[in-house]
Amino acid sequence: MARVEVKGLSKKFGEVVVVDDLNFKIEDGEFLTLVGPSGCGKSTTLRLLAGLEKPTWGSFFIDGKRIDHLPPQKREISMVFQSYALFPHMTVEENISFGLKIRKTDEEQRKGKIGWILKLLGLSGLEKRLPRELSGGQRQRVALGRALVLEPKVLLLDEPLSNLDAKLRLKMRTELKRLHQKIKTTILYVTHDQAEAMTLSDRLAVMNEGRILQCGPPQEIYSKPADLFTAGFVGSPPMNFIPGEQFAFLQPEGMVVGIRPEDWKLSTIEEPQGIKGVTTVIEELGSDEYLYVEVADTLLVARVKPGMKIKTGVPIWLIPKKEKMHFFDGRTKRNITSEFSSKSL
Ligand code: ADP
Ligand code: MG
Repeated sequence: MARVEVKGLSKKFGEVVVVDDLNFKIEDGEFLTLVGPSGCGKSTTLRLLAGLEKPTWGSFFIDGKRIDHLPPQKREISMVFQSYALFPHMTVEENISFGLKIRKTDEEQRKGKIGWILKLLGLSGLEKRLPRELSGGQRQRVALGRALVLEPKVLLLDEPLSNLDAKLRLKMRTELKRLHQKIKTTILYVTHDQAEAMTLSDRLAVMNEGRILQCGPPQEIYSKPADLFTAGFVGSPPMNFIPGEQFAFLQPEGMVVGIRPEDWKLSTIEEPQGIKGVTTVIEELGSDEYLYVEVADTLLVARVKPGMKIKTGVPIWLIPKKEKMHFFDGRTKRNITSEFSSKSL
């Protein structure tokens, strides 16, 4: 177990700044997720921490000890790659024990640790198989096992579920969460999938273009996104954004109003505090329905409970719940709801 602190971490490739002044802490035993779109610098951040890239600026610490100048194997950090990177000609057991052999762990101890990992990850009975004789989920667990057997202080996971099909991904998501509850290792997890980040993490750090935009518990990020990017990135279907000019009754000029799909009231009769549109598509998901409502050039989405008997092609009024509206400064993109609503609402 260990506490991580990252200070001013930056990386340039040539003239391009790929990781830009990252500052964050991971508490002892915490599960922190870096989440952001492809290319925003997530893998590079992990590679910097693991020692596979050299930082351009910045430093980082485990339990107060600076480690960024140490060689990778001295950092007590293990990384699991998106591609798993298992040795194809080695069995499960050999793959898992590889790191221990390199560290010259004696055989007795090695056997004990491998047994523990096989049991922990539900791989017992598969130790003699080659990677190609395993399912995607099993391969993923071997990759995890190879990292965990070294008992790292910090575990770095780079999109570990992205190669799995949707159903297996959900199953492994739950398994990972349970595993973390058992072993309590400090984890830095990386994904582009906001749903994965929301469900797995103690806290998330939302990243875009090399920067961390907001760091906090999932529910806080969902209910109080700090800026337009975060607001649009976290949540599915995403938050609706309405330019201020379009619906003058909502707010003054220069602002963007955000409303989550579940935060509308609906009316099929005219409503002066509502936005008039036409339902064009209804998606039925069993527990919920999504209505896609065309308003001028904008498509707004509302999440409703099934059984509302709304038809497509007829007018509908979407009334935003006042206390659930988010206000963003159109220029700085910052969330200014608290300043704005104390003045105006
Ligand atoms: P993510 O993991 O968030 O998808 P990466 O950290 O892999 O993003 O990459 C961030 C950016 O850095 C991308 O634009 C990528 O092309 C660039 N990049 C990554 N590695 C290198 C490298 N070795 N040389 C030059 N550019 C790189
Ligand atoms: Mg990546």
